[in-house]
Amino acid sequence: MNIRIGNGYDIHQLVAGRPLILGGVTIPHELGLLGHSDADVLTHAMMDAMLGALNLGDIGHYFPPSDPKWKGADSLLLLEQVNHLITEKGWKIGNFDSVIIAQRPKLKPHLKAMNDRLSQVLHIDPDQVSIKATTNEELDAIGQEKGIAVYSVVILFKNEKD
Ligand code: MG
Repeated sequence: MNIRIGNGYDIHQLVAGRPLILGGVTIPHELGLLGHSDADVLTHAMMDAMLGALNLGDIGHYFPPSDPKWKGADSLLLLEQVNHLITEKGWKIGNFDSVIIAQRPKLKPHLKAMNDRLSQVLHIDPDQVSIKATTNEELDAIGQEKGIAVYSVVILFKNEKD
């Protein structure tokens, strides 16, 4: 069996007047994430991990922020495209493990909805999509609620016979 691992990272600023979208789920909060697309930092980190596992560069290469086509883009549609790159090369997703670092709001009540949404779009079992959330203990910019960051890892496998 062939195995590939990928890791992804993303960070977006928290600002007023923007929705807070994580894993395709809109979370009620007075601040939202700033970005060219919908700024879904969780989905971006997961895509970055997937592309890393395939050694295909990063999401900026596929969906350049300079391209007006991606303005306000639903990141789940981009995730679908990256997932397609994986399946067309014969790879299968083993599992993801992601950590969201956000001082506020409390994300625990929303993790299941994110898990449902992402596993649906990726056509995998919810058990293959681990999402965790932690605060930054009020330290640094994330701790001061200036942004939200996500680390994500994914493992892909391919059966030799396939
Ligand atoms: Mg991003």
